[in-house]
Amino acid sequence: MKRVYNFNAGPATLPLEVLEEARAELVDYRGSGMSLLEASHRGAAYEAVHEEAATNIRALLGLGDDHAVLFLQGGASLQFAMVPMNLLGRGETADYVHTGSWAKKAIAEARVVATGGRAVNVAADTSAERPARVPAPAELRLTPGAAYVHVTSNETIEGIQWKELPHTDAPLVADVSSDILSRPVDATRFGLLYAGAQKNLGPAGVTVVVIRKDLAERAPDDVPIVLRYATHAEKRSLYNTPPCFAIYMVMLVTRWIAARGGLASVGRVNRDKAARLYAAIDASSFYTGTAAPDSRSGMNVTFRLPSEELEDRFVEEAAASDLIGLRGHRSVGGIRASIYNAFPVEGVDALVGFMREFERTRG
Ligand code: PMP
Repeated sequence: MKRVYNFNAGPATLPLEVLEEARAELVDYRGSGMSLLEASHRGAAYEAVHEEAATNIRALLGLGDDHAVLFLQGGASLQFAMVPMNLLGRGETADYVHTGSWAKKAIAEARVVATGGRAVNVAADTSAERPARVPAPAELRLTPGAAYVHVTSNETIEGIQWKELPHTDAPLVADVSSDILSRPVDATRFGLLYAGAQKNLGPAGVTVVVIRKDLAERAPDDVPIVLRYATHAEKRSLYNTPPCFAIYMVMLVTRWIAARGGLASVGRVNRDKAARLYAAIDASSFYTGTAAPDSRSGMNVTFRLPSEELEDRFVEEAAASDLIGLRGHRSVGGIRASIYNAFPVEGVDALVGFMREFERTRG
């Protein structure tokens, strides 16, 4: 069996143990005589998986009954629309922090939704700055009485991450697609958080939404039933057929995180992995990090080489050494190493070794 070091930004590498477990159960799920891919989403076998996935996420985040864990479809991108549709009432303003490519999409969608006396305020905009960075809390121009404050906890493309999310009076809404369950957080502070699963949680096809239950009730009457958080909260994400197999994978991955000691423990490992890569960048004048040091992401490590031609060669030769998926997003270029929870430290060391050798021969 061949396994490469997969640095893709998402879909991304999954824990080998989880893949092997899913394979072992694939055709005959626990003696049921059918695959979970074929099982009814109303049956007992799937019901147990569905419940455990939600329970695991709630436990890892340290949340109680005030929050609902939802499994939705449409990706984090649908949440860019659902958040303002549900949480931004007539005459209200939502604050958005513009930090980069994903915040930009969230803001664009909110502006489409915000008709009828609703407003979108950009509370800070660092998106054009290079090196890329997130704003300091004091830079935010928040609206008194805002419906909510939206932040992107980790900008996957620019490689920046909030070290601590801002404290706000209004409910904090966060796109945590690329850093969910990667470090300890005080999740009770969130009004709503959402993440496509395909980076830290499992395969593509399911989006995790965690919402304070009182906020789920806010949707105006003109929001379609299927797009209301309350609909999915009341029906425990079984209002319509959920992406059962993707949720099963999320259940296995969250079990795997818990077995490794939970968020404090995976957070330590993730910090160590990122520190090794940033140390290699800082030790060299050949590689240049693209994020301001205090905004550097622990998940997506972005850097440049002296020329695009060298970057092309770097990506090609790395791939020939089974270091896959290192090309930066097409909108920004450069190199991006995505090192989510399931990415092994040995792969980070392999990349650091490759970087040294590439610099020695090409620098
Ligand atoms: N937000 C962030 C921070 C992301 O990284 C991504 C995907 N790369 C998205 C939103 C969009 O997610 P999806 O493709 O699941 O809609």
